[in-house]
Amino acid sequence: MSELVLQVKDLKVSFSTVDGVVQAVNGISFDVREGQTLGIVGESGSGKSVTASAIMGLINRNSADMSGSILLGGLDVLTAQEREIRALRGREAAMVFQDPMSALNPYYTVGKQIAEAYEVHHPKSSKKERQLIALDMLAKVGLPKPSECIDEYPHQFSGGMRQRIVIAIALVNNPRLLIADEPTTALDVTVQAQILELMMNLQQEFGSAIILITHDLGVVAEVADEVMVMYAGQTMESSKVQTLFDTPSHPYTRGLLGSVRSLDNSERGALHTIAGNPPSMISLPGGCPFHPRCEFASSMDDLCSSVQPTLRVLPTTGSESACHLNDDQLLSLGRGVIHD
Ligand code: SF4
Repeated sequence: MSELVLQVKDLKVSFSTVDGVVQAVNGISFDVREGQTLGIVGESGSGKSVTASAIMGLINRNSADMSGSILLGGLDVLTAQEREIRALRGREAAMVFQDPMSALNPYYTVGKQIAEAYEVHHPKSSKKERQLIALDMLAKVGLPKPSECIDEYPHQFSGGMRQRIVIAIALVNNPRLLIADEPTTALDVTVQAQILELMMNLQQEFGSAIILITHDLGVVAEVADEVMVMYAGQTMESSKVQTLFDTPSHPYTRGLLGSVRSLDNSERGALHTIAGNPPSMISLPGGCPFHPRCEFASSMDDLCSSVQPTLRVLPTTGSESACHLNDDQLLSLGRGVIHD
């Protein structure tokens, strides 16, 4: 089995606000291994981006309560010193954000920004070496004429090209883990496909593991090996990507899949939506957090509203599901029928 790159155990993150305590992440655990692509899927506010920020050590400890552990590069990010975390960033883990324009400094040439990112972990490198590295990275991410691009500023590029530059900066120190938080959401559909393809090609070349955070199951289907479905800061289901699409093992996953129109348009007709809205993270419902929206909750007496289900492995598929339905009922979700 390939080497473990990241291990997250029982991570909880909450923020105190004037309106109350926001329980953003509520006890999630997962591993990421070398070369693996993990898709983290969920609606807005499900805790995906807070999880990514916690892994990168970007959450101010004075403004949040955090518990559990995040093991990365031999350190626990939750307890490591700031200087230790700075040493991890870029080398052990790097991040690509949704909006490439805000990730780039508008006052510096793109060459300078790539070179500076390299210099952080190679302080003894010469200016010439950094220049060559920047040229090489611009070529690797597919920018035409790198020798001209290197002296240009972010506003001189299209959105897709800017995202390529952000990826070049993220990968310049060959990190073991790349976290991409909705990296294609701000881009046109055709450019989205190009960026995803680029990330997959670079993963082959650099050997990095990838965590891809998205609300888009289509993106996950394209690139992920494993998928973790989050809702209300918790893991609802975790499985191999093909298994999730063939045999979804949680009512929420089934709802998400139902709201995706087939790409080949073979399933015409109305899109299904999940009734209701995600819960307020300040006052989460008791029991299963999905129960106010779940079509199966009423068949379970009060169990769903009073007892929080824990993740368990379904022996038939190897998926993990946090639901009170029994194994046979969960396995029949993909067929749209629940057996009594
Ligand atoms: Fe629905 Fe109950 Fe399962 Fe939650 S535990 S997903 S409410 S059936």
